[in-house]
Amino acid sequence: MSANINLPRILRVGAGASRQLVATLRELGIHRPLLITDAFMVQQGYCAGLESQLNEAGIAYGLFDRCVPDPTTDSVDDALSVLHGGDFDGVVALGGGSSMDTGKAVAVMAELTGGIGEYKVPYQIDSGLPIVAIPTTAGTGSEATRAAVITDTKSQEKMLCMGLGLMPVAALVDYELTLSMPYRLTADTGIDSLCHALEAYVSRKANPFADSIALTAMSSIYRNIRTACAEPDNREAREAMMLAATQGGIAFSNSSVTLIHGMSRPIGALYHVPHGLSNAMLLPEITAWSVAGAPERYAHCARHMGMAAVSDTDTIALGKLVDALRQLNRDLAVPTPREYGIDETAWSESLELMAGQALASGSPDNNPLVPSAADIVGLYRRVWSQS
Ligand code: NAD
Repeated sequence: MSANINLPRILRVGAGASRQLVATLRELGIHRPLLITDAFMVQQGYCAGLESQLNEAGIAYGLFDRCVPDPTTDSVDDALSVLHGGDFDGVVALGGGSSMDTGKAVAVMAELTGGIGEYKVPYQIDSGLPIVAIPTTAGTGSEATRAAVITDTKSQEKMLCMGLGLMPVAALVDYELTLSMPYRLTADTGIDSLCHALEAYVSRKANPFADSIALTAMSSIYRNIRTACAEPDNREAREAMMLAATQGGIAFSNSSVTLIHGMSRPIGALYHVPHGLSNAMLLPEITAWSVAGAPERYAHCARHMGMAAVSDTDTIALGKLVDALRQLNRDLAVPTPREYGIDETAWSESLELMAGQALASGSPDNNPLVPSAADIVGLYRRVWSQS
C-alpha cells in the first residue's frame, strides 16, 4: 500500500531561520500578511523581531495578538474578524501550538462559511490562505502538520481539524526562539513531541517514510530532554529538541497519533491541563497497555532510544520501555492528575464523557490495540490510581 505524504513547501531550519521571513514571503508571493500571535510574544520582543523585518522591507501587515492557550472557537472568531477587516493574502503564525493553530484555523476559515466547529474530523479542510508558521515551543510540530486543535467554547470539546489547508506552506524553525522556555514548558512540550514520534511509529497508519523520521525524533528527544530542561541555555540540546519537534510533527502528520493523544485532549478540555502535560500523565500507562498490540515495534523503539540493549529480547525491551517512561516522568517532575489538583469525584464522573470524546476524535482507532469505550474508562481509572 502506498502512503500519501504531505509537507510544507519551505522548511528553513536552524539558528536565525525566523530572520528569513521576508525572503520566505517573497518566495511565496504573499504581499499583505496578517501576523497572528499572543501577548507574551509581543512582550518578549519576538513579535517586534518579525515586525521590524516587515517594516524594513516595506511590507504592509496586520497584527492579531490575542491568541490564548488551547485556542477556542471564540478566540478563532476574534482573530477572524481582524482578518476580515483587512485585505490579507496570507497568515504568519508566531508562537506555540496555540498561536499556530489559531493562525491555521483563521487561514482556512477565510474561505469557509459558518464556524470552525462545523469542520472538525472527519471533514477534510483542503484549502485556505497560505500559512507561514514560526514555532516558539519545541513540542507540537504544528508548523509541519495538517492539523489544528480548537476547543468548542460551548461544549468544551477539544476538536481535531484536519486537511491540507491546515498544512503551513512554510515553517521557519528557529531554536533560538525556544531559549526562553521555562522548565515546565520545556518538559511538557518535549514529552508532547516524544508522544508524536512514538505514536506515529506504532500507529496502524505507520509507513516507511514516517517511521524513519519518527525513530530519529524519539531518539533525539529522549537523549536531550533532561539537558534542555536542566540547562535552558544549552544551545545544542535546544537545537536537537526543536528539530525533533518538527520531525515528530512530520511523522505523526503523515502517519497518525493514537490512544495517548485521543485520551489527552478531553483531559485538556475539561481540566485545563496543558496539552503536553496531559500527554505526559498518560504516556507510561497507555504505553504499558498498548505494547501487546505491536510488541516488536515498541521493542524497536526502546532499543532505538537506548532504553534497552540491542541484545534484549522483545519482552525485556518492553519492560524497560515502560520503566524508562515512568522514570522520565519522575525525573521531569510530571504531576499525576491528583497532584495537578483535579478533583477525584469530578474525574470519576467525567470518565464516560472523556472516553466518548476520545473515541470521537478517531485517534484511538489508530492504536496498535484498539480500545473499546470500557477499555478507555478503565485506562483513565488506572492513570488516576497511579496518583
Ligand atoms: P502553547 O502554544 O499553548 O503555549 C503555552 C504558553 O507558553 C503560552 O502562554 C505561550 O505564550 C508560552 N510560550 C510559547 N513560547 C514560549 C517561549 N519560547 N518562551 C516562553 N514562553 C513561551 O503551548 P504548546 O504546547 O506549544 O501548544 C499546545 C497547543 O497545541 C494545544 O492546544 C494542543 O492541542 C495543540 N497541538 C496542536 C498540534 C497540531 O498539529 N496542530 C499538535 C499537538 C498539539
